[in-house]
Amino acid sequence: MEILARLNPKCQNWGVGGGFDPLTPLMISAACAGADSLGLMILQWKVGQKIPSAGYDKLLGRIKDISERHKWGISTRLSYLMEVCLDDYAQPLKCKSCHGTGKNELHKDCGKCGGSGNRNRSNASRAKQMGVHRSTYMRVWARRYRIVMNYFMDTLPELEYRAEWHIKNHLKSA
Ligand SMILES: [Zn+2]
Repeated sequence: MEILARLNPKCQNWGVGGGFDPLTPLMISAACAGADSLGLMILQWKVGQKIPSAGYDKLLGRIKDISERHKWGISTRLSYLMEVCLDDYAQPLKCKSCHGTGKNELHKDCGKCGGSGNRNRSNASRAKQMGVHRSTYMRVWARRYRIVMNYFMDTLPELEYRAEWHIKNHLKSA
């Protein structure tokens, strides 16, 4: 599998390193074998490995299906939209008020982010990432962004969870 060759020891950032013998690339490849490619891609995106993969193509295929259903027309920017949504999903920015902890100084939920510890990127930065003018983004892409993001929130957490479980389980039994 091509995707396995692309994984590197950054996998340790996924929280599977503690309490085990040091991981080797071979062990990680073995652990990742059989995990859903889409779930793996999300885990990779979370650790900053934004690279072409089977999972990337699979997700883009789903975005194209959504595009057809909503009659968005053919656009080469669909992959950009997907990457903007992936960033917002997998690499949220830290809330400036609580610095990502989700708690205020009284150890209650942060009032600014509601306890999530995250803050949203601005529409302007999303437009910039997509290479479109802000007005175009607001007129055309903002609605599409919400549709894709809703799809992500509905479907990605479970895929991600399953991929992580698969990897941890395999490492435990190895
Ligand atoms: Zn906060």
